[in-house]
Amino acid sequence: MSFEQIKNDEQQYMMHTYGRFNTALVSGKGAVAKDVDGKEYIDFTSGIGVNCLGYCDDGWVKAVTEQAATLQHISNLYYSPLQTEVSKKLIELTGFDKVFLCNSGAEANECAIKIARKYSYDKYGEGRQKIVTLVNSFHGRTVTTLAATGQDVFHNFFFPFTEGFEYAEANHIKDLVRKTDDDSVCAVFVELVQGEGGVMPLTKEFVNAVAEICKEKDLLFMVDEVQTGVSRTGAVYCYQNYGVSPDVITSAKGLGGGVPIGACLCNEKTANVLTAGTHGTTFGGNPIACAAAKEILSRVTTPEFLADVNRKGDYFRKELAKIGNVKKITGMGLMIGIETEKDNAKEIAQKCVENGLLVLTAKNMLRLLPPLTITYDEIDKGLAVLKNVMEA
Ligand SMILES: *Cc1c(COP(=O)(O)O)cnc(C)c1O
Repeated sequence: MSFEQIKNDEQQYMMHTYGRFNTALVSGKGAVAKDVDGKEYIDFTSGIGVNCLGYCDDGWVKAVTEQAATLQHISNLYYSPLQTEVSKKLIELTGFDKVFLCNSGAEANECAIKIARKYSYDKYGEGRQKIVTLVNSFHGRTVTTLAATGQDVFHNFFFPFTEGFEYAEANHIKDLVRKTDDDSVCAVFVELVQGEGGVMPLTKEFVNAVAEICKEKDLLFMVDEVQTGVSRTGAVYCYQNYGVSPDVITSAKGLGGGVPIGACLCNEKTANVLTAGTHGTTFGGNPIACAAAKEILSRVTTPEFLADVNRKGDYFRKELAKIGNVKKITGMGLMIGIETEKDNAKEIAQKCVENGLLVLTAKNMLRLLPPLTITYDEIDKGLAVLKNVMEA
């Protein structure tokens, strides 16, 4: 099939929900993707932070294919040793108390939101349901997670949105104090590095203030780690970089290394909030997804692997600083934002694709989320393309 035919068929048969780059990817290995015409691309996106071991990692392929050939799905009416292994591993890596397995970031966040509201309902009764999120955040595409997202552009068309969200300015402690000074608030829910919002990290001071206010007012401190989690920022979960102890975190993207899986983790305080019949999902904890997550979690969480992610992150930053038209570099670990002098990230991303490099944008920033296993040779090749495009 030619690229033109694929593009025409997409126009004819698919809802027009995505602005896509002009390439159809059909195979890959490591940090290299290949399109339908055989052209190769260095991939600095890993499918938006998903393929943390790159394309078709041998161990990951073995785990997924062997599980597909053994038992593909059983529903949550039965016990599953893969679900318990993945959950136990997540608990051991974090010190949280209980896990709920689901299928996506938005779903993990829905779970966190339900926990916050029921925790408060169980303890204080009705009327304490408001969740404070941050301006410029992104929490997903369901009607409720859109409401949680602190960007007006997402609050259109689909009225009425789920009520009970309020937005505080990121890194603005006074605004946070103001927005949480309200008896109807039950939780604060933040990304520690705002991903879609422009790769913007929260300051330590602000995150400490969130933790303190939550403790003082018995609000749940909840962190959306859908993009920052699974070693992306150089710690297994980003909250560990900040030295704080949230009540609830959510995970997805990198957790399955390329198959859909999400998780909501909660601490002792919130462990028994969701009870039989109050939450569930058909596909959540699917054996193939769990086999993939088990492989990922055994590979990307060792101290050596994390040190390597940090070294590669430092290398990226050092080399990016040498490229012309780079105005500012943000982010943490292998979650990297680049502000360009000409404020032309979209145009740069387009030109990178034409020249064999896949990069992302977030607001006015270029955003890099390379596979965590990317080699220095692949980094150098990709950066050479980026340099050519940026300095053209
Ligand atoms: C991608 C993302 C989501 C949504 O995840 P989906 O799997 O697309 O539902 C939620 N929160 C953050 C921080 C994300 O980056």
